[in-house]
Amino acid sequence: MTDTILETRGMTKEFLGFVAVGDVSLQIRRGSIHGLIGPNGAGKTTCFNLLTKFLPPTRGEIRFDGRDITRMKPAEVARLGLVRSFQISAVFPHLTVLENVRVALQRARGGSFDFWRSDRLLRQYDQRARELLDDVGLASYAGLTAGQLPYGRKRALEIATTLALDPVMMLLDEPTAGMTAEDVDRIVALVRRVAQGRTVLMVEHNLKVVEGLCDTITVLTRGRVLAEGDYATVSRNPEVVAAYLGT
Ligand code: ADP
Repeated sequence: MTDTILETRGMTKEFLGFVAVGDVSLQIRRGSIHGLIGPNGAGKTTCFNLLTKFLPPTRGEIRFDGRDITRMKPAEVARLGLVRSFQISAVFPHLTVLENVRVALQRARGGSFDFWRSDRLLRQYDQRARELLDDVGLASYAGLTAGQLPYGRKRALEIATTLALDPVMMLLDEPTAGMTAEDVDRIVALVRRVAQGRTVLMVEHNLKVVEGLCDTITVLTRGRVLAEGDYATVSRNPEVVAAYLGT
């Protein structure tokens, strides 16, 4: 097992000749929390789409856990354990919090939606769903519908439905966006907890969160890697200050 779990070489995405992501080579260390930051339009979302195969790269190579995933489909990379949270994890507002996690578990195991016909299977999913809700601090919300959850708690539910896929590596897309300070603290603690035994790559605008959570940070501007390193290193880089932190 190598130290690098996700690696890109020369990853490039052009839209009609416009370079959204240009020649990005990333190395994400197994077990680390890696931050991807940069001003709006820097190419962060496009990177996530490339890594999770929602977009094919124009050029370059992407390797995950020793495999070339450059030409794989999103479902295939998810099965390998590279899973994106938030934007794709479906939360059904009319189902209860518990049912949402149960459905995610059931889908992760590839069955159909009529699983409740089997009592034994239902009890297994139920038990595992309750464990996951406990892990993300939502045990007492199990019976509410997802639509009734406060915003910050919805994000925790999305993490629980992502954990149902048993990811090796999680991609978190702005986990604290739009949250109150109290919610931010809770999500930071949660990310730290779910990162144990996994790798996390996160796009995050809140630099306090990045500083507190990320071991390594890649700064993108205009589709290119501007700087990389720990928070102290990148935040002192004059180019980063000019391009991002100073704005
Ligand atoms: P970020 O997430 O860092 O804000 P994006 O990855 O969303 O940046 O966008 C990077 C650049 O690529 C932006 O200039 C954006 O307008 C452009 N872009 C993103 N997706 C498309 C697309 N489907 N077609 C054309 N241009 C795109």
